[in-house]
Amino acid sequence: MIIIMKAQATDKDIEAVLTRLESGGWRTHVSKGEERTIIGVIGDERRLDQGAMSRMDGVDRVVPVLRPFKLASRDFQPEDSKISVNGHVFGGNKVIVMAGPCSVESLEQMRETAVAVREAGAHLLRGGAFKPRTSPYSFQGMGEAGLKILAQVREETGLHIVTEVMAPDQVGLVSKYADILQIGTRNMQNYALLNAVGQTNMPVLLKRGMMSTIEELLMSAEYIMSNGNHKVILCERGIRTFEKYTRNTLDINAVPVLKELTHLPVVVDPSHATGKWTLVKAASKAAVAAGADGLIIEVHPNPAEASSDGEQSLKPQRFAELMEEVRRVAAAVGRTV
Ligand code: PEP
Ligand code: MN
Repeated sequence: MIIIMKAQATDKDIEAVLTRLESGGWRTHVSKGEERTIIGVIGDERRLDQGAMSRMDGVDRVVPVLRPFKLASRDFQPEDSKISVNGHVFGGNKVIVMAGPCSVESLEQMRETAVAVREAGAHLLRGGAFKPRTSPYSFQGMGEAGLKILAQVREETGLHIVTEVMAPDQVGLVSKYADILQIGTRNMQNYALLNAVGQTNMPVLLKRGMMSTIEELLMSAEYIMSNGNHKVILCERGIRTFEKYTRNTLDINAVPVLKELTHLPVVVDPSHATGKWTLVKAASKAAVAAGADGLIIEVHPNPAEASSDGEQSLKPQRFAELMEEVRRVAAAVGRTV
């Protein structure tokens, strides 16, 4: 349910509506737009006397929200959410680019990559210290030693860090080093993990499950937000289809669909979506043309030697070329990079 206040409603009117709802046991979410205020109501809607609410001073109308996600929905908050990390704002005009290797492997590897991607214009550094691998025999990541490398490279280059957290009991540790907590595709419906990151104040990059619908992605965002953390950045990273030529299928539709359904920023991961470095530039440009607020791209100084995802990792020089072309596409759709 949302309560749309009249343009001329006073602060007192708004306060009275909130008091009535909260004393009745409902939770509220206030979105103050330029024109008018919208109050989102969370709780059992059947108990709410819609008629009585709509007769309160300053109330224009009461509208049921039929979709299952509430805090994440555009109905609750029509304006785009803006999430700032080190001055780079997700959900604004600028397309935010995160780049770096799949896995943290050594200080030298991270340092070399960070300097190169910063030079090419990336805004944040990615790198996994805890790796969710399909096989238990594959490289599992450096763990805390990897987080320490990330923090040192942030110190040296000024690039802030996005890195994955895989389990609720890692959230405290990873939050000590990271600037954005990444939830991987395999954990999108790990509700204990979603609740745990929801209880922090950290921005969360929530990747779409490889077999999840857009609605399921938004319900996972809702888990994080209903714990009080509204700093959720959604990430389309490709889904499983019958097509085998690429690792996944980039669901480019997800970008405009999400922009319609939610106020949360939407970024695209063209590396995991394609699985092949030769396709990453085209997928990046398509994402920006479709309205993505950012990109997260795998870059490795020596992809042939990478501990994970070498086939889809760009060499720094190729990443620099990609950035040039992405800038031109961004300009064509009225965005900067
Ligand atoms: C990654 O970012 O390296 C990763 C494991 O991504 P995903 O969870 O999308 O597979
Ligand atoms: Mn990877």
